[in-house]
Amino acid sequence: MNTEAISPFGERRYHAWNDHVKALHGGRVQKVSIAAGFTCPNRDGLVGTGGCTFCNNASFTPGYLDRRQPITEQIDAGLLFLRRRYPGTQHYIAYFQSYTNTYGEFKRLRACYEEALSHPQISGLAISTRPDCLPSEVLDYLAVLAREHIIELEIGVESCNDAALARVNRGHDFAASVDAIRRSAARGLEVTAHLMLGLPGESYESMLDGARHLSALPIRALKLHQLQLVRGTALAREWQRNPDAVPLLDEQTCLSLLADFIERLAPSILLQRVGSEVPPALKLAPHWNLRLSELAPRISAELSRRGSWQGCRYLPTTAGSS
Ligand code: SF4
Repeated sequence: MNTEAISPFGERRYHAWNDHVKALHGGRVQKVSIAAGFTCPNRDGLVGTGGCTFCNNASFTPGYLDRRQPITEQIDAGLLFLRRRYPGTQHYIAYFQSYTNTYGEFKRLRACYEEALSHPQISGLAISTRPDCLPSEVLDYLAVLAREHIIELEIGVESCNDAALARVNRGHDFAASVDAIRRSAARGLEVTAHLMLGLPGESYESMLDGARHLSALPIRALKLHQLQLVRGTALAREWQRNPDAVPLLDEQTCLSLLADFIERLAPSILLQRVGSEVPPALKLAPHWNLRLSELAPRISAELSRRGSWQGCRYLPTTAGSS
């Protein structure tokens, strides 16, 4: 690696979502989480029961959110909280985050999205879903909405490795993610892929291979999460019975992995997240000294130490070779 070469991404050394969005929309964009009462086909029996073994939706539900309230009131409560916490935010988008937010009768989905968009402070939607829950009718409708609003479609890929996906009872394979991402992007929708690093059944190499697979797809952004064991999940119970069956990333390995991954990731892909933090009351393991707020600067420091940056080891592949 040429340590004298200059990072195209400045001191951050990766293509950060926040910087891009601020430049594009003339200021900070903040997501207001809402819960529309959807469920998940990997829980209700359509695809499976019990859900993904790492999943406990409570772990990413913010404290201000009261799922019993109508969507408009949830947005008002979220804005009240976020305006105090992030003064100076220019745009707010409604974040359909918990469970599978494209799973349901089309009429109901549309009513939920349109109620959120009718709020005078809301400029768009972020919709989180599974790759096997994106019928053409929904994608066509979202593509129409995207002509006038910010629409971010967040697809839970979680892993590019079918063995790891099966190991955590994900209920779909990587081919389902490839198909969903391509069908969404073909309609002009901006796709954010959600990837979890450290699932059981992955190796260091298979996770790095994920950077290559995702780089070959038309995704706009990527959210990286490290596996954390959340109380009440099947994976947490499995770890308690036999920790060797669920090896967890320590912070140093995770930092190295993230730096190696980012070096192999296409430079065009925006990094929206490089890690996550489960609320302490819900987290069983691992316990790191590193706080989430320290993770991004530590990654930049590691890339700087190596004289590297996002995409410096990226090898473009031809379409269909992912
Ligand atoms: S992670 Fe998503 S798809 Fe998996 S069980 Fe939870 S809500 Fe369902």
